[in-house]
Amino acid sequence: MSSLPDAVEALIEELTRLPGIGRKTAQRLAFFLLKYKGEAPRRLAQVLEDIATGITFCPRCSNLSENDQLCKICENPRRTESVICVVETPTDVIAIERTGAFNGSYHVLGGSINPLEGIGPEDLSIDQLLSRIDEGNVEELILANNATLDGDTTALYLARLIQPRGVKVTRLARGIPMGGDLEYSDEHTISRALQARTTLDG
Ligand code: ZN
Repeated sequence: MSSLPDAVEALIEELTRLPGIGRKTAQRLAFFLLKYKGEAPRRLAQVLEDIATGITFCPRCSNLSENDQLCKICENPRRTESVICVVETPTDVIAIERTGAFNGSYHVLGGSINPLEGIGPEDLSIDQLLSRIDEGNVEELILANNATLDGDTTALYLARLIQPRGVKVTRLARGIPMGGDLEYSDEHTISRALQARTTLDG
């Protein structure tokens, strides 16, 4: 049985839920916070509270935003709305932004189609994407889905759905390794993949 007070034990348990954090690291973090008890834990608690209550999804592109407002990219007047880069997650947006090679807007799907896990097109933000296209200002859709089986399935599904609407549909070239996540690719690879994107025959 643990010799620690219940509150400390609960903190350690919550920390071990985080990716890459084992019991030992969680313990070390917990004791760090305890050592500086007062301000440091309270600041952390406040930030977590803000995230829990204030972070929402952008009503236009489904990227992360605050209090139901447009995300920072959608509200930037210097970003081109006629080119939309479709990605799976907000971390993919960060990965492409890191290259500085893209000045269009994004659409975050929220995952990829995976029939085995019961994830269908209706579970992704595809309806919002179609609404944006039907507004008539979109000239090109860049499919930057991950280079995985699910990513390819989703990209093909979208290409077949959107090409008949008269929008040019392109797919990132194979600069991204097969089975790799955008999130873990370096800027150079993503940048080259963006430049060498190709038209997808749906
Ligand atoms: Zn947005």
